[in-house]
Amino acid sequence: MKQKESIFRTVIEPFIIKSIEPIVMTTRAEREEIIKKAHYNLFKVNAQDVLIDLLTDSGTGAMSSEQWAAIMRGDESYAGSQSFQRFETSVKDIFGFKHVIPTHQGRAAERILFSVMCKKGSIVPNNTHFDTTRANVEYQGAQALDLVIEEGKDPKNLHPFKGNMDVEKLKNTLSKFGSENIPLCMITITNNSGGGQPVSMENVKQVKAVLSNHNIPLYFDAARFAENAYFIKEREAGYKNKTIKEIVHEMMSYGDGCTMSAKKDGMANIGGFLCTNDDLAAQKQKDLLILTEGFPTYGGLAGRDLDALAVGLQEVLDESYLHYRISETRYLGEHLTEIGYPILQPPGGHAIYIDAKELFPHIQPLQYPGQALSVEMYIVGGIRTVEIGSVMFGRIDRKTGQETPSEMELVRLALPRRTHTQSHIDYVIEVMREIYDSRNELNGYKITKQPPFLRHFTADFEPISDY
Ligand SMILES: *Cc1c(COP(=O)(O)O)cnc(C)c1O
Repeated sequence: MKQKESIFRTVIEPFIIKSIEPIVMTTRAEREEIIKKAHYNLFKVNAQDVLIDLLTDSGTGAMSSEQWAAIMRGDESYAGSQSFQRFETSVKDIFGFKHVIPTHQGRAAERILFSVMCKKGSIVPNNTHFDTTRANVEYQGAQALDLVIEEGKDPKNLHPFKGNMDVEKLKNTLSKFGSENIPLCMITITNNSGGGQPVSMENVKQVKAVLSNHNIPLYFDAARFAENAYFIKEREAGYKNKTIKEIVHEMMSYGDGCTMSAKKDGMANIGGFLCTNDDLAAQKQKDLLILTEGFPTYGGLAGRDLDALAVGLQEVLDESYLHYRISETRYLGEHLTEIGYPILQPPGGHAIYIDAKELFPHIQPLQYPGQALSVEMYIVGGIRTVEIGSVMFGRIDRKTGQETPSEMELVRLALPRRTHTQSHIDYVIEVMREIYDSRNELNGYKITKQPPFLRHFTADFEPISDY
């Protein structure tokens, strides 16, 4: 659906609310108690104790009335269900690949893809691997290389396609490791780990041209394929008058397959899939699928989930929706910038990232400035976010116990799809204004208890009271 021109500046939510979930209101004093009991770890706070949950945009969005209606049509037959047929038709209509394999979420598609394609010592280039993607590559004994352009690593650079892959780096990788050791190349759209930044069509074409000379297949990590297409329509010459679907078709025509976390642009609460044009690979993938996910016509999902996805994948192509979605993120980003917050620029598709190291120069990286900000956002406004800094990525030397901080100390405000109204966002902005005014008085944190890996989920913290 094309976007209808409007003479008004206000971007309204292109939907009305049919079913609501009440927010349980809490006071600041109550939240101080709650966060203390949770040892200052927001992953340990119960959802009903959160006013605005910006922890992730994954599987947290609202479904439409058409999706709920589709849920009731779910055909739960073990083999050859109508739900699968509707799902497969919808995916093929948009992505155009020959084989469609459903999985319970994105990482299951990744595991199956890399199990089939990679072996020990293989090299997989990507603009930036998402963390589950990297983990699944490395689990095969292969090496995951991030080849994003240099502009993509500079938080202040306003390059319109900061998710692009550096084509020179790709060529160098090919000559260094030899194309026989590179079973596939991936491009993540939009580049989640790089701040939700888009990849241009031009870049995909260039990457494809390099790979074609060496017969290396190109796969997309397509979690936010529609948001990426919207950025192309907005920013890349020659695409203004194309529909989102036409843009997606063109992009996918340069690929040999994709993995998909349908919890993002699938507009559903669970689901994923793997696509390929390679008959032999598809056969091996389906064999593996049966081993852990299920029969190839449901792959770990209920029939009703497949139906919700069949509808959601079409709805995400609606330009009014994408215009509202990208405007909402931009609106939040622009207001935070106006207050004075250093954010990763320009605002990406699904989230805003605040640079807590720059915001709190008085808090040392190993006193976790990102944690300090996210805890404060919870106490002051009941807002839940996630630290993406030294709590998540700090490395501890097993022998010396010495800790090395992460390169960046970010806090991510991820926006669930179709879930919040403009006044929710205005509330977040107001809370952030209050926090900004007291930024010099806030203290860091220390970790009092932590597991040996993935510590951010379960670690305990304590505020550092005096310096
Ligand atoms: C979320 C995500 C994944 C993993 O998908 P899950 O559905 O969470 O397993 C992979 N790649 C990207 C870019 C993602 O955003």
